[in-house]
Amino acid sequence: MSEILVSTDECPVCKSPANLAELCPDAISREAGLRYLDPLARRHGIALTEITKSINAYRCSYCQAYFLNPWFSEDARNEIFLAGHPIHNMGWSNFLKRFTNNETPKLPLSTADLLGVIESKVGKISSYAELGCPFMGLLLRSVDSISLERWLKINKSFGSMPRFSARQLPQTISDFMALATMSSNIVKLVTRLRFWRRRALAQKPSVSDIKCFEQTYYIPVPSSKGWGMNCAGFGESCTAMSHTTLGAKVITISNLVESSDRSIDLIGIFFMLDHQDSPLDLLKTCLSKAKAVLVLTHEKPFSPQHQVGLGHDFFLRLPEVIPDVRIDCVASRKSDHLFLLSNITES
Ligand SMILES: [Zn+2]
Repeated sequence: MSEILVSTDECPVCKSPANLAELCPDAISREAGLRYLDPLARRHGIALTEITKSINAYRCSYCQAYFLNPWFSEDARNEIFLAGHPIHNMGWSNFLKRFTNNETPKLPLSTADLLGVIESKVGKISSYAELGCPFMGLLLRSVDSISLERWLKINKSFGSMPRFSARQLPQTISDFMALATMSSNIVKLVTRLRFWRRRALAQKPSVSDIKCFEQTYYIPVPSSKGWGMNCAGFGESCTAMSHTTLGAKVITISNLVESSDRSIDLIGIFFMLDHQDSPLDLLKTCLSKAKAVLVLTHEKPFSPQHQVGLGHDFFLRLPEVIPDVRIDCVASRKSDHLFLLSNITES
């Protein structure tokens, strides 16, 4: 177990001493998110329940972030996010729903209502950047229509699925059986995709969406606590897909750091802050470069693939942790909250 779980002596968010944190058993869900941990457990021959019962939840005495301690070692995180479960299910599921059923990510408010609230607090929003995953928030909502050109790009990407060369022919019966199973799964997937594509084309593209931003961006961020920049579906990375199908300009986090202050009106982070290596530093960077930052965040109990839980308590405490930040809770649901962060000096 020691190679899977490691202890920390500091809060992963603000670096306060971990021994000052309060034990909060109700902050961890030992039933949710297990599919992400299952490949790791099977590989090490350990029951999932053995792993989850070894993890405790705490609340930091200073920043009020919840964190799990012990949590997964670097090797275990690689097995979870790079090998065992290398794609972000929720993001790609949102992507498929958008381009097959014309469904957009479920947020507590409509795009128009949400922008109305944000603009009433920080002024006109013309440019928008989504950070961490391009398929969780307003980017998918801001596509003005599903154009034939974009569809052609998607279809083209189906053709880029990996093919086997003669040098990769199976050497053993077990390899052959694995290949047969994988081939069968690929055939099922392609059949399903063709069905979805036919249905979507038959439905005609929607032109009813609001064209809400003059310029959109996607900001991928490397991370060891999430899928980072490794996430790919249909033969294309999510970063490439954000550009080819959503029309977003891709900028790196370095580009953002080097950009002039307030170069982007709004940055959206939807269920991705808790997957970052340094969530607090990232928030500070975003706040220095944008008029406002919109964060959709989980509420406790947190599932164990997240080391930190940044819920209501954390955001209410944030004005003491980041100077001059104003926090507005835009909407709340049972399991998540939508917070708007802006700079007091500018609002
Ligand atoms: Zn802390």
